[in-house]
Amino acid sequence: MTQKLNNVKEFVNSIDTFIFDCDGVLWLGSTIVEKAVETLQYLRALKKDIKFVTNNSTKTREQFMEKIKSYGIECYLNEIYGSSFGTAIYLNKIGFNNKKVFIIGEYGLQKELNDQNIQTVKEVTRLNDGIDNVQNIQVESDIGAVVVGMDTCLTYQKAVYAHKAIVENNALFIATNTDTSYPIKNGKSIPGAGSIVSMISTSTAKQPIIIGKPETLLLDLIIEKDKLNRERTCMIGDRLDTDILFGINGNIKTLLVLTGISKLEEISQPNSPIIPNYYTDTVSDLLLHKE
Ligand code: PLP
Ligand code: CA
Repeated sequence: MTQKLNNVKEFVNSIDTFIFDCDGVLWLGSTIVEKAVETLQYLRALKKDIKFVTNNSTKTREQFMEKIKSYGIECYLNEIYGSSFGTAIYLNKIGFNNKKVFIIGEYGLQKELNDQNIQTVKEVTRLNDGIDNVQNIQVESDIGAVVVGMDTCLTYQKAVYAHKAIVENNALFIATNTDTSYPIKNGKSIPGAGSIVSMISTSTAKQPIIIGKPETLLLDLIIEKDKLNRERTCMIGDRLDTDILFGINGNIKTLLVLTGISKLEEISQPNSPIIPNYYTDTVSDLLLHKE
């Protein structure tokens, strides 16, 4: 059962760590949500612990921090958890070394992996059209993993390289995140990293290890590092199938805000599959704690 966030005072007092999804919660595209900055300032004044979690693999944590700061929001590097950073930590955790990673992804993914001493291959030599050309693509023998994230310069040739690495080299197959599409201006959308991941999982008939929300790897990193109490930790998000499911899978509290993708109708039916503990119109409703 979900409930409208009526008793803000009791709720805010019951939580020590607020984990924020950003787009749809704090800003919409490049427009800050009204009073979102004041809300974060207020939570900091109450000495609350704050984290930011993003599935966006195209930015490094530094870039993400700069974006957050550009809205006037106080923010520190160790508060940011992105799917590319999570991928690098995961690879180190499983003892992946001495091999290279082929990435279908952008600068943020490459940089986060390189910063953790993981070597990457990002480009495939451009070839002329034709199956005869692509079938000769040679995968370097030391490619031990393929990581697929958002890549706005995706080519069929990169897909062939990834496919061959997984099928012929038995490389690990990792997805930074599986968001099917991303909202853009005027209520429109574009294919997300998940649609690229689907291409590779369809061709190889293999399922990837998934790093981003709703999988709990990033949450486990946050909880382990700061020894957090799950009972007193809350995920605030705008999307049921990533943010809220992430919180549910990780056994923490969940608050859906209605400024982004998911709508009230989706949680008000008795058979809705993903139900947050609480919902509210906007993140700035937390300021009602003051009253
Ligand atoms: N990845 C990319 C490339 C995006 O542009 C977005 C949102 O715009 C996301 C992922 C989703 O990120 P988040 O988890 O911060 O909502
Ligand atoms: Ca979001």
